[in-house]
Amino acid sequence: MNFSNTCKVLLLSAILVSAGCKPASFDGTKAMAETEALVKISPRGAGGGGARRAAVQLESRLKALGMKTTIDTFSEATPNGKMHFNNVLGRLPGKTNRLIILASHFDTKSGISKDFQGANDSGSSSGVLMELARVLAKRGPCETEFMIAFLDGEECRKEYGPHDGLHGSRHLAQQIYDAGGAKLVKAVIVLDMVGDKNLNISVPRNSSREPVKELFYAAHELGIRPQFSIGPGDILDDHVPFLLARMPVIDVIDFNYGSAPGLNDYWHTTNDTLDKLSAKSLQTVGDVVLKMIDNLQ
Ligand SMILES: [Zn+2]
Repeated sequence: MNFSNTCKVLLLSAILVSAGCKPASFDGTKAMAETEALVKISPRGAGGGGARRAAVQLESRLKALGMKTTIDTFSEATPNGKMHFNNVLGRLPGKTNRLIILASHFDTKSGISKDFQGANDSGSSSGVLMELARVLAKRGPCETEFMIAFLDGEECRKEYGPHDGLHGSRHLAQQIYDAGGAKLVKAVIVLDMVGDKNLNISVPRNSSREPVKELFYAAHELGIRPQFSIGPGDILDDHVPFLLARMPVIDVIDFNYGSAPGLNDYWHTTNDTLDKLSAKSLQTVGDVVLKMIDNLQ
């Protein structure tokens, strides 16, 4: 190949890259640093000072990545009376009006202890989400638009019901549905409890068929398919309001988080601490979600 042809090839690849969706990869170490930064604010029970400070911090991190952000504050009745919640939202424009929503709750279960970190539930998924936001912001516009949604009030106070738990996801799903946007949503990917050193993602059966197929295919492409399976049953989590609002949604969750395989004894206890997590697990989840996103373009 002569020099001028080489120049043409270089020019062509520069144009292709600048056309959008530039390569940028997920860094599990950075995701862990984001998790640690959030967990410094603990506990983060909805309606409390910790949750409010966490919302402000998450928004400022999104802003620093150059994203358009809002804190959507709303109030709802709960078994403890009327409470205020703060969804933290970031947007990245796309080349079409099709939308992919990436979501994690950032609140922690109330009433456990003043020392409750909620490192895995909800630090890990929030850390992965922030690192995904960094990568997607760096990549530039893709075919789809992205919404990064840090959801408040996932945890219930007494028992899950129409007025207890899933407040942030119910509010956001309703907003999108009411605005006629549900049909533009290509996928909603909810992350929850994704940092366990012994990572085994078990997707609840009440996830939508298409994104589940996409997840397994992405994991297969990355050679990590054995770490992903379909769980034994349904789970009530932030994906359910999106499912009810007719959006294709998947809940990426590892609901075995404990001192031995099959146990979940760290969940909602003061044992849910940073030392139980690994950057490698965050990397695995980040990689597979990015691969799903690539395949959905
Ligand atoms: Zn929880």
